[in-house]
Amino acid sequence: MRVELLPSSQPPSDKQFLVTYLINDRVAIDAGSIGLLADLQKQKQVEHVFVTHQHIDHIATLPILLENVYEPGPKSIEVLSAESVLDLLQKDLFNGRIWPDFLALSTPEDPFLITTPLEAGQPVNRCGLVVTPVPVSHAVPTLGLVVDDGEAVVAFPSDTGPTEKFWQHLNGLDRLDAVFLEVSFPDCLADLAEKSGHHCTKTFVDELQKLKRPVRWIVVHRKPRYAEQIAQELASHNISDVELIQPGKVYEFSA
Ligand SMILES: [Zn+2]
Ligand SMILES: [Zn+2]
Repeated sequence: MRVELLPSSQPPSDKQFLVTYLINDRVAIDAGSIGLLADLQKQKQVEHVFVTHQHIDHIATLPILLENVYEPGPKSIEVLSAESVLDLLQKDLFNGRIWPDFLALSTPEDPFLITTPLEAGQPVNRCGLVVTPVPVSHAVPTLGLVVDDGEAVVAFPSDTGPTEKFWQHLNGLDRLDAVFLEVSFPDCLADLAEKSGHHCTKTFVDELQKLKRPVRWIVVHRKPRYAEQIAQELASHNISDVELIQPGKVYEFSA
């Protein structure tokens, strides 16, 4: 399995403003930055977009992606998300004011997008990947995703603060290669982290204990203005198996 967190800064840097993971070039998790890829061919290869929740850093370029890849005919991108999120996307984004109502404009012969509701705990199979949504604990209902390609298993909890179900699910798996876990705030903003359903460094470190197996931890979603501070706090804990994400780097996981 090849996983890349797409860069969201210009020029590409380790600052992360937006969220899109590209998996094997054909499946995307969240649509924060996917519509900004200069290589349109790369946008056109994407067949399925899983949306974990509706926050703008996760959907910012979904309308741009759909616009960029649209071609008349029956083929289109599939957007998979909780039913409640799909409803919000139509009400608040594809509503004929912010952007054309791509859902109302779509017909089976000529869709702008196809939507598929996700149910917690119900895996779906796309492009050889089994993707299982599991709820996490964020400011709005959010589905973390566990992706299994038959060789490796990688977990994407998305935006979350301290949570339980997701780790219980991971503890029940036969295999787990990596977890892309967020730290949004430094410890001096622990209150804000708690109120907004995110991790600060301390809750991140505590959270690692909930997983009863060694795994590769990849730190994502550091708010850019605190990124350096969070890195220093993490380093002071001296934990092995924890690394900072490099946007634009392809992470390979295999048997
Ligand atoms: Zn969020
Ligand atoms: Zn976010």
